[in-house]
Amino acid sequence: TSKRLAGKTVLITGASSGIGRSTAFEFARAAAPAGGLKLVLTARRVDTLKQIAADIAAETGAQVHVAGLDVSKVEGEVRGFVERLLPVEFRDIDVLVNNAGLVKGVAKAPSIAQSDIDVMFSTNVTGLIAVTQEVLPIFLKRGSGDVINVGSIAGREPYVGGAIYCATKAAVRSFTESLRKELISTRVRVIEVDPGQVETEFSLVRFDGDKAKADAVYAGVDPLTPDDIAEVIVFAASRRENVVIADTLVFPNHQA
Ligand code: NDP
Repeated sequence: TSKRLAGKTVLITGASSGIGRSTAFEFARAAAPAGGLKLVLTARRVDTLKQIAADIAAETGAQVHVAGLDVSKVEGEVRGFVERLLPVEFRDIDVLVNNAGLVKGVAKAPSIAQSDIDVMFSTNVTGLIAVTQEVLPIFLKRGSGDVINVGSIAGREPYVGGAIYCATKAAVRSFTESLRKELISTRVRVIEVDPGQVETEFSLVRFDGDKAKADAVYAGVDPLTPDDIAEVIVFAASRRENVVIADTLVFPNHQA
């Protein structure tokens, strides 16, 4: 594992928290014994990213570049971000982890706020696609690379009160599968990892910072930790080049 990752450049969106943050640590730790790798950590909270980068570099020796990137702002921020935001030595990306995503609210269809619809689609779907479009030419030019998309069980099993979030994650699934087929004659791997319930800031964001509501989501259950998902992502990225862990559902044992 370590040898397959060493020397690579890994870009993670939504690396300031939860699964993205854990994935950054996991990649750096996994590659360290064979000489380490380069990480590009992106999200909107740049100060948080800087702290994470410093912690990862101190622990693992990884070279880390952080960049503020709001994936929902396609024309203003995502278009051209590789050349605009990344120093030359971080541009040869080998692994893209499209992890940035969020859910807003719980509401039945007639009362879903347009602003919530817009933020979920622009972040989870349009943003993910746009970031992929910016990075894919690098993969195609080199003839290899991994696109790893973080979907959700919600994209497979829609639930009442989550119609929009579920629709966004179904779109991610569909995009991922189409892209995998499109690239089948290349060495670019396209991978989807769908988590079940994971304890992160996800619920806090869903309920606009209402901690009581967020905590209630995890009451009486034993959710996954972000590290559980990070391990799966790093496992997928560190297989032999002919092996594609195309589609994985990861549940806590209690989840039906
Ligand atoms: P967190 O809220 O802890 O992390 C979400 C990350 O996404 C943050 O780093 C946040 O950074 C970033 N983000 C949100 N909006 C944007 C944006 N517009 N541009 C760039 N970055 C953004 O949640 P999780 O770690 O749980 O979520 C990660 C992924 O996992 C998401 O795609 C989510 O849908 C998925 N998932 C989570 C599950 C769970 O139970 N937690 C279950 C299934 C899937 P910042 O605010 O700094 O921009």
